[in-house]
Amino acid sequence: MVDAELRDKYLEVMGVAQWVPRSPALGCPAAVPETIRSDSPSVSEAAFEPPSNPSAPDGTLSGLGWEQLQARVAGCTACELHATRTQTVFGVGDRHAEWMIIGEAPGGDEDRQGEPFVGRAGQLLNAMLQAVGLGRNQVFIANILKCRPPRNRDPLPCEVSACEAYLRRQISLVRPKLILVVGRIAAQTLLNTQVSIGRLRGQVHRYHPAEIPLVVTYHPAYLLRSPKEKRKSWEDLRLAQSVVRQQRG
Ligand code: URA
Repeated sequence: MVDAELRDKYLEVMGVAQWVPRSPALGCPAAVPETIRSDSPSVSEAAFEPPSNPSAPDGTLSGLGWEQLQARVAGCTACELHATRTQTVFGVGDRHAEWMIIGEAPGGDEDRQGEPFVGRAGQLLNAMLQAVGLGRNQVFIANILKCRPPRNRDPLPCEVSACEAYLRRQISLVRPKLILVVGRIAAQTLLNTQVSIGRLRGQVHRYHPAEIPLVVTYHPAYLLRSPKEKRKSWEDLRLAQSVVRQQRG
């Protein structure tokens, strides 16, 4: 697709950016159980599988299929966010997708509808996917957090720790050829780094330990505010596309 077409697609879904300032982080509950913290030791296959979760009586999610996992997420009370959510936002799309898209956390629209990326940022994400020939139902879309942080504030580290087992299990079940991570927070979380998104994008990383190729790009909400960066995002998408093609052989 030529750049002008891409630009038109983006412009179609663009409008005045809706930017909600983040409020200062609220405190995490004192007792996020140690058993589900992401920094607990995890190696080889075990690191690909989620660490223990207190809501899992047998202490692991590794044996869970999609339905059981979704039910576990729906009933999760592992962090304070369960108290303010309307519903959990599990993830959506093709469970055998080649592409897995990972964002940060549900916003207000997602919290109401129970589906990731359904607001304005979601519309732009759809357009970005279309630009590389993908329908929303051809990828699997999930977030680091399954519950909305109040007022869309940044996730707290303990919330990420409490929730990431679910995402790890989702990745393990989908086994995508490529993970496309949108936004700084999701990228830094998945790559376990503090490096800026400007430096993380534009290259192929590996999601350990399964070594799944991972490409970082800007969050569509950021692109709505900074449309000039769409060109870089387009380059990232093309990079991701080339990785998937290579994987097919
Ligand atoms: N932003 C995200 O990171 N995820 C969503 O689901 C919606 C907005």
